[in-house]
Amino acid sequence: MKLYAPKYYKEFTCIADKCKHSCCIGWEIDVDEEALEKYATLENGYGKKIIKSIDFEETPHFKLLKNDRCPHLDSTGLCKIIKNFGEGYLCHICREHPRFYNQIGDRMEVGLGISCEEACRIILNTDEYDVITEIGEICQEAEAVDFDSALHRKEIYRILSRKDVDYKSKLEIIYEKFGVYPSVCTDEEWRGLIDSLEYLDASHKKLFLNYSFELRENEKNEKYSERVLAYFIYRHCSKAWDETEFREWLGFCLFCERLFASAVMVSKESVFEIARIISEEIEYSEDNTNEITAMYFEK
Ligand code: SF4
Repeated sequence: MKLYAPKYYKEFTCIADKCKHSCCIGWEIDVDEEALEKYATLENGYGKKIIKSIDFEETPHFKLLKNDRCPHLDSTGLCKIIKNFGEGYLCHICREHPRFYNQIGDRMEVGLGISCEEACRIILNTDEYDVITEIGEICQEAEAVDFDSALHRKEIYRILSRKDVDYKSKLEIIYEKFGVYPSVCTDEEWRGLIDSLEYLDASHKKLFLNYSFELRENEKNEKYSERVLAYFIYRHCSKAWDETEFREWLGFCLFCERLFASAVMVSKESVFEIARIISEEIEYSEDNTNEITAMYFEK
């Protein structure tokens, strides 16, 4: 089937040793069957170290070192597996990160996750989030679907790119059109939820507790809020199988947009870092994502 991606997708290259928040630190990496078979053929030299570095209990994964670093990350921030054997020997997760895929019927879409600082820099620096083009083919069977999430997404992007209304009004039009309002819960209720979420870094909870729904005129850095919202919609709403699911994901995306806008108002961190933190803490945690989505149903 045909593979599509946003225009910015091809700009991405991992910045490896220049990355300040390397995905090779702090994440437990599962090793897939195919990679295990390849590693089993490497009987000498560094190959032996790769085998020794895997914990085979339950799902095989690389055992992190005491400082949470991947055992194959060298002191200069480069991957020893790539250095010794080339990218072809990376496991699936390392090869694909920070990419994600969504199938919509007979087409596949690929994108970049903003928990990766380089992907985040690229995505927040472009207005062309609505330019999605064919980039190749992927081997996958088509699925029959009655619902095309891309049509709703296109409508939201059309609203977001309007020049005749301000950003606050664009959000209000989206809330109204899809019947999804983050203000369904009070700020106090959202902050109660934020307080109960799981965090990789406790200081991020403090930042998120500045959440406020209030839509301000000429909000600081609102062009970045718009791009963050467009990103979340591309990533999450696109995978909806029907209208209800689309609205559930839209609720999640609209909450994340308000969380970003609130944090930007109070934090000295860059907009890029705030977006990256929200991605890492919220959308990469299934539990946190589910808790946020559930808030809309409890009303
Ligand atoms: S987070 Fe992104 S830029 Fe940094 S090491 Fe991982 S893939 Fe490369």
